[in-house]
Amino acid sequence: MSALFNNYSRRPISLIEGKGTIVKDSNGKKYLDFTSGIAVLCLGHAHPALVKALQEQSEKIWHTSNLYEIPTQVKLAESLVKDNHLSHAFFCNSGAEANEAAIKMARKHTGKNNIITFENSFHGRTFGAMSATAQEKIHSGFGPLVDKFTYLPFNDVEQLKNSIDDSVAAIMLEVVQGEGGVNSVSEEFASAIHEICSNSDILLIIDEVQTGIGRTGTRFAFEQTVLKPDLVTMAKGLGGGFPIAGVLGTSEIYETFSPGSHGTTYGGNPLGVAVSQTVIDIVFQDSFLDEVNEKSMYLVNNLKESFPQDQFTIRGKGLLIGIDFGNELVAPYISILEDKGLLVCGAGANVLRLLPPLNVGYDELDEAVRILVEAIVK
Ligand SMILES: *Cc1c(COP(=O)(O)O)cnc(C)c1O
Repeated sequence: MSALFNNYSRRPISLIEGKGTIVKDSNGKKYLDFTSGIAVLCLGHAHPALVKALQEQSEKIWHTSNLYEIPTQVKLAESLVKDNHLSHAFFCNSGAEANEAAIKMARKHTGKNNIITFENSFHGRTFGAMSATAQEKIHSGFGPLVDKFTYLPFNDVEQLKNSIDDSVAAIMLEVVQGEGGVNSVSEEFASAIHEICSNSDILLIIDEVQTGIGRTGTRFAFEQTVLKPDLVTMAKGLGGGFPIAGVLGTSEIYETFSPGSHGTTYGGNPLGVAVSQTVIDIVFQDSFLDEVNEKSMYLVNNLKESFPQDQFTIRGKGLLIGIDFGNELVAPYISILEDKGLLVCGAGANVLRLLPPLNVGYDELDEAVRILVEAIVK
């Protein structure tokens, strides 16, 4: 028995070294890493520019706290709100924390408390974020939850319209539900949300913790929809492996994030900011995002040609791709794929989730599809 608590069902391998998409375990076995540390390593393992940014910053200053000005943090904020309708940022350390901040600000800003979230969403494990997460299995044993979250079926326009009243402070959703099964918001649903939020003081919070920072082929996934969020949360890909997260908001929210209203000791620390700025400078280039989209199309087409359509559904956006197994469980396949040298995640019980680094090579996509077909297609 290990000295660690048993809250993760860990795979019995330990990864000790990585370069790009390739990782090596403690026995010297190599794998293609199509988990990217759960959508975190957007530029793969040990990207030279990120290594350099971290090394250089580590020799200057690690941490100052937010008692003082951090000019590099301001610059990172500017990079994140450039080319969209958002205007300000707050930095923290994890996706759950980013969602906590957004939930708090939505309540304070509107003076209301009811937040609508959707079945199979995932927003994190802290009390507010867990309460926002509409999945029974995440709540089990931890009640009472934070009050005033209303859970509705995803992509059900009628039920959403029927649930709008004066108590609603915000609607909160993922554009593609990552943990919940790689489910994209429908065009019709996005239009309905946009209409509701445009014609009321109800805020729109988009959780881009998994979908943001190029993962779906655009800077943020909401850019592919009509949605104009008031608050956007980010984490995972933001630091490319260094823990940093954040919330972006419109200028209307500015007064609400007033001095003393919210904070965190580590948030936007110089080390995280230095790495994140390097990530953003690379990933937010149009030419880089074009390539993500080309690789996405290449991967999806190959999967659709190789997997029988009557048994499997291929879906997702960018390089957040799900293979839906229908009623069959994916867990046994995850270990078979691991033996064959391909690491992948699940998304719920029946969906295999592919999350390669955004700079994955075409040869690596070919190899991954070859292994997937060999292991899964009978
Ligand atoms: C991973 C995830 C979170 C939680 O992020 P943590 O950094 O683990 O707290 C929240 N929302 C979404 C959509 C996620 O994928």
